[in-house]
Amino acid sequence: MEKIDLSPWRVEHKTGLHLEEIDTRAPRIFPAEEDALAHQTKKLSDKLNKLQATLHASRSRALLLVLQGMDTAGKDGTIRHVFSHVSPLGVRAVAFGAPTEEELGHDFLWRVHDKVPVLGELTIFNRSHYEDVLVTRVRGLIDKDICEKRYRHIEHFESLLHDCGTVVLKCYLHISKHEQKKRLQARLDDPHKQWKLQPSDFADRKHWPQFMKAYEEVLAATSTAHAPWYVVPTDSKPHRDLFIAALLVQTLEKLDMKMPRPSFSLSDVRLD
Ligand code: AMP
Ligand code: MG
Repeated sequence: MEKIDLSPWRVEHKTGLHLEEIDTRAPRIFPAEEDALAHQTKKLSDKLNKLQATLHASRSRALLLVLQGMDTAGKDGTIRHVFSHVSPLGVRAVAFGAPTEEELGHDFLWRVHDKVPVLGELTIFNRSHYEDVLVTRVRGLIDKDICEKRYRHIEHFESLLHDCGTVVLKCYLHISKHEQKKRLQARLDDPHKQWKLQPSDFADRKHWPQFMKAYEEVLAATSTAHAPWYVVPTDSKPHRDLFIAALLVQTLEKLDMKMPRPSFSLSDVRLD
């Protein structure tokens, strides 16, 4: 299987980012036919499974995957599909909702630091500390000055995680406003999906341009060599899953981890 070059979707640090110029539809370099797509995704899932087992056994590194995006962009779906073949023993997903009163009494990274992966673990954040510079900014809860200070705190925080062995990957799930409408309508129509809806989904949709502007600023300000952002085209769910599985596999392969040797001599044990 040829390696997919994901670099065109990697955000460069502090350069102007224009989300409307990035297609939300399936990238052309990915297979269009369902069978080829499913085949490639399955192969990547198998690889991810093996890499995660090595990560877990060697306990020398950790991986944090941050998922951000507008409502219905597919944060939950990504977690369900991309990690469906991975052992739950070494994977944890954490969702961040609006902060509690206690959490608001602390600095904004307090609740987040508590949930980062330990060595050997793969943790997925469904929303994250980035809400503290996105939704808070759009709703006018913080001003530009506080926001810029938070960018610095985030950069230092992620740099600390990196220095302690954690690989930080951040994906912005890039959905079009039109596709979001279809998905919100599908949730309104399906009794099994209605529970997911919140009034804020509709309020946030009204502020779509402000959210896009906030995302553009945040992604450019906080995409670094040690914690890069990727803009993941996400109107097609199977392509989104393939993108993220490929990104994880490529990132974990680069770590060149080895299964540890047993701590005792195998020739010393006798099986009755
Ligand atoms: P959902 O992920 O769709 O279930 O909804 C979680 C909600 O919590 C979203 O509306 C987020 O914007 C909101 N949220 C998450 N983190 C924060 C935060 N730090 N400050 C304010 N709202 C937040
Ligand atoms: Mg929601």
